[in-house]
Amino acid sequence: MSELLYNSYAAYIRQRFGQRLQKVSVDAGFSCPNRNSVDRSIGGCAFCNNRAFNPSYCSPTKSITQQIDEGIEFHCHRYPDTKIYLAYFQPYSNTFAPLETLKVRYEEALSHPDVKGLIIGTRPDCIDAQKLEYIAQLAEKHLFVAIEYGIESCYDSTLNAIGRGHTFEATRHAIELTHCFDIHCGAHLVIGLPGENSAMILDEAEAISNLPIDSLKLHQLQIIKGTRLSEAINLRIEATPEEARDALRQIGVCDEATTCEGYLNLVCDFLERLDGRIMLERFAGEVPPRFQALPQLAWRRADGRLMRNEEVPALVNRELAKRNSRQGAKTQFLTK
Ligand code: SF4
Repeated sequence: MSELLYNSYAAYIRQRFGQRLQKVSVDAGFSCPNRNSVDRSIGGCAFCNNRAFNPSYCSPTKSITQQIDEGIEFHCHRYPDTKIYLAYFQPYSNTFAPLETLKVRYEEALSHPDVKGLIIGTRPDCIDAQKLEYIAQLAEKHLFVAIEYGIESCYDSTLNAIGRGHTFEATRHAIELTHCFDIHCGAHLVIGLPGENSAMILDEAEAISNLPIDSLKLHQLQIIKGTRLSEAINLRIEATPEEARDALRQIGVCDEATTCEGYLNLVCDFLERLDGRIMLERFAGEVPPRFQALPQLAWRRADGRLMRNEEVPALVNRELAKRNSRQGAKTQFLTK
């Protein structure tokens, strides 16, 4: 296998635990302030449709234990050697409830005999010191506990335009507080949001490098049915790929983010500017084709078949190798 030219989260997990840890998604019935709050119910962020990435076994109509049982059954065929599972509180904002509610839901997951830890996905404005103190206690008692914040963008103008409902300063505050509690901190960033040109996206690498995060997931902008972005585009079904790209440009998506090749180049440019200590967990997201509002732009391999998510890291590594580069190769801005 060729040398990895980026800091891989998967490699870190294997090295630390001697094996891969499989996440099992859980929908614990939480909501989020953008969908369920008296002062700010705007129908969600412009790109969000949680149904698009929720696995079939994951539903709040089932108990957490049942979802974990079904999730393990689902994953064990694909990864028969996996022995350790983490409950992944994934959809919506999984700290958006009183602490007592969080305790009941997290502890039901942790009482499952095959679950050895938690990944808690949430928003930066749904956390406080009391919740972090409790999560830090869980982290001491269990194999691996992490929080994953949706940063999405480092620009308040973008956060405002997508209806995110918090600032980048709120993100910085939440991440710094999480770091004080010594909890593994992951983050999620969307590359190619409307209004961001490629120079702005590359500058985000510096802003992210200056946050005390441990791991990062990058996602391309996907236009998902049922979202405000898909309504803004509203393209006829027979539109050509070029018409679809044009529609993206019209809502302010930069050219590079409208193709697979352009996106991968942008990601490599970003990685060259990202601090080498930050581990990369993902380079792209994948939603089932039935949820894609612009199926004309689905990423395809040379043989015409749809590209799978797990193929993307090798493509990123190959591009970095072609450039004779690596993560952090252009981080002269870092003072440490
Ligand atoms: S992305 Fe997160 S915060 Fe935004 S609407 Fe969806 S669940 Fe809520």
